[in-house]
Amino acid sequence: MMDRRSCRTGFLWSPTFDSHDYGRRHPIRRNRFTYIKESVEAEGCLDSSRLDILETDMLPEDVLRAVHSSDYISRVREISQSGLGNIADDTPGFKGIYENALSVSGATVWGIRSILSGSIDHFFSPTGGFHHARYDGGGGFCVFNDLAAAVYELRSSGFQKILIADFDAHHGNGTQTYYYDSPDVMQISFHEDPEWMYPHDGFIKDVGAGEGIGYNVNMWFPMDSGDEVYRFAFSELVPPLVDSFGPDFILFLPGFDAHYLDPLTHMNLTTETIQYVAESMHRFAHQYSEGRLGVLSGGGYHPRALGSGACAVLSILTGSEYAAPPQSPPFDHDDEETWRIVRENVSVLKSLVFPMHGLDT
Ligand SMILES: [Zn+2]
Ligand SMILES: [Zn+2]
Repeated sequence: MMDRRSCRTGFLWSPTFDSHDYGRRHPIRRNRFTYIKESVEAEGCLDSSRLDILETDMLPEDVLRAVHSSDYISRVREISQSGLGNIADDTPGFKGIYENALSVSGATVWGIRSILSGSIDHFFSPTGGFHHARYDGGGGFCVFNDLAAAVYELRSSGFQKILIADFDAHHGNGTQTYYYDSPDVMQISFHEDPEWMYPHDGFIKDVGAGEGIGYNVNMWFPMDSGDEVYRFAFSELVPPLVDSFGPDFILFLPGFDAHYLDPLTHMNLTTETIQYVAESMHRFAHQYSEGRLGVLSGGGYHPRALGSGACAVLSILTGSEYAAPPQSPPFDHDDEETWRIVRENVSVLKSLVFPMHGLDT
């Protein structure tokens, strides 16, 4: 088993990541990915001797065709050629969107291949985590689902226990549709209250179907939820589930958009909690998956919170020190009502899911 002190990380990069243009007022800003790279570089978070920058490539055609319908692929191609039309209301089309989507989603597959070849143990991709894309459509700033592409690759290589740990503040509704009845993929999604937050999906009761019952875990939080309730829910739910599942590969979205500064969500987390979650996932990867861990940035729309979040996660992967800038969330403590809802959600979720894994509720 790979020792934590000698594990290697690949920071995935391609100059084509930023060949996108969703328009001036869109939350996916121009040069988003270059911004992430430059901010972690400026903080010295790429300096570790245990980190390599790995150049990635496009999503291979056979993988794309395995995870999306040919109708949808043709539609993205047409939008890309003409520059006219939208992928969805919130995801405008532009000239070259097809190639850009192949680039930003392809990175995940090249990261997986690098881990499987044994050259690295972990990868960090500044793109990736396009969890709203479905077999037959896109939306929520997602065109091609790189998580589905990753699972396809892993299944093709014989992996049978894949964990998707999705802490993005939005529910991974697209990814959920691929594996809802599959016990070989466990999806744990922590997100903001779906009643109010896009994509209005990801309810506690949605625990999977058929043989997949108990392998789809949706934990939602009321708006303004902070570090205390979040860590409580994490510690109650995640370690027992990971322990019983025993993943052989972990795909992880750290949840940069659950930070209190994020303008698109209403969560109240500090970078320390993002660090806490990332530390746990890194530990699980070494404990269960021989270190195999892929980190996909996902959302994150406040530049400073995104930059320091990325640095915090990279430091954990490379075993370096990093102290996040001082944090001052608007609410010091979670109030009684927040605690009541979170405790209730955790308790219902445990009663629905834990028995399927032989765990005490
Ligand atoms: Zn490690
Ligand atoms: Zn998000």
